[in-house]
Amino acid sequence: MPARLRQVLGTDAHVNVIVVERADVIGPDLGPGPRPVIEDALRELGVTLKLGAGVASIDANGVLLADGSRIDGATVIWTAGLQANELTQQIDAERDRQGRLHVTPELRVVGQDRIFAAGDTAFAATDDNGNHALMSCQHAMNLGRSAGHNAAADLLDIAIIPYDQVGYVTCLDLGPWGAVLTEGWDRKVKLAGKEAKDLKRQINTIWIYPPRADLAEAFAAADPTRRLV
Ligand SMILES: Cc1cc2nc3c(=O)[nH]c(=O)nc-3n(C[C@H](O)[C@H](O)[C@H](O)COP(=O)(O)OP(=O)(O)OC[C@H]3O[C@@H](n4cnc5c(N)ncnc54)[C@H](O)[C@@H]3O)c2cc1C
Repeated sequence: MPARLRQVLGTDAHVNVIVVERADVIGPDLGPGPRPVIEDALRELGVTLKLGAGVASIDANGVLLADGSRIDGATVIWTAGLQANELTQQIDAERDRQGRLHVTPELRVVGQDRIFAAGDTAFAATDDNGNHALMSCQHAMNLGRSAGHNAAADLLDIAIIPYDQVGYVTCLDLGPWGAVLTEGWDRKVKLAGKEAKDLKRQINTIWIYPPRADLAEAFAAADPTRRLV
């Protein structure tokens, strides 16, 4: 944001980008592994952190914080509060905090044998260690492959393949500073800076795109045993 704003407003423009976070640390869900890298990047980019601060309301002139103080701002960007699509509410089944449907390893909605859920609508175990899929492309793509295969297999009476996804990485974009790549659910830093950014660009420009309209490529991409990570 600071670099983009200066591009638009001029290099001498007074730019003040503040991240407001309710937790006492930045990126609380990411854990302590990548935090020093994220803090360094934000500092170097000139982003200010306002930690331990809840947002009480947003109006045309900025943000009112829970402690009664205000941050005046020309623009407020709200990025919190992932929720599963509201269609999931039509299904009589157990949901998690984000509204995702609890599913079996086959990706059938628990208690609704004829309904499969995938992607951002599924609360699915990824392994036997208590980890669950996140609302992310990485999980959505594999959940889609498995749910698609299993729904068809159910109709055709062929073998169902249980979903699992033991490998897990995060690749977090940090703007012009670069990116940070972590591996595993304890998020050990594997790459930081330019190398991680090159990978992030590959993910965003190649990996997440559907295959070409070619039957062999489409079937290979839909293979439920295929894992990119
Ligand atoms: C701004 C943003 C940035 C993100 N960045 C990342 C990232 O860097 N890395 C990452 O891993 N994940 C990222 N995600 C999360 C990722 O995009 C999702 O987890 C993933 O797209 C979920 O896939 P999905 O197939 O479940 O749902 P979606 O990709 O949301 O697809 C659902 C589709 O269903 C359609 N639809 C909805 N309702 C109906 C209806 N009633 N009838 C018919 N069609 C309907 C929608 O239009 C949409 O095309 C990001 C998400 C957002 C919003």
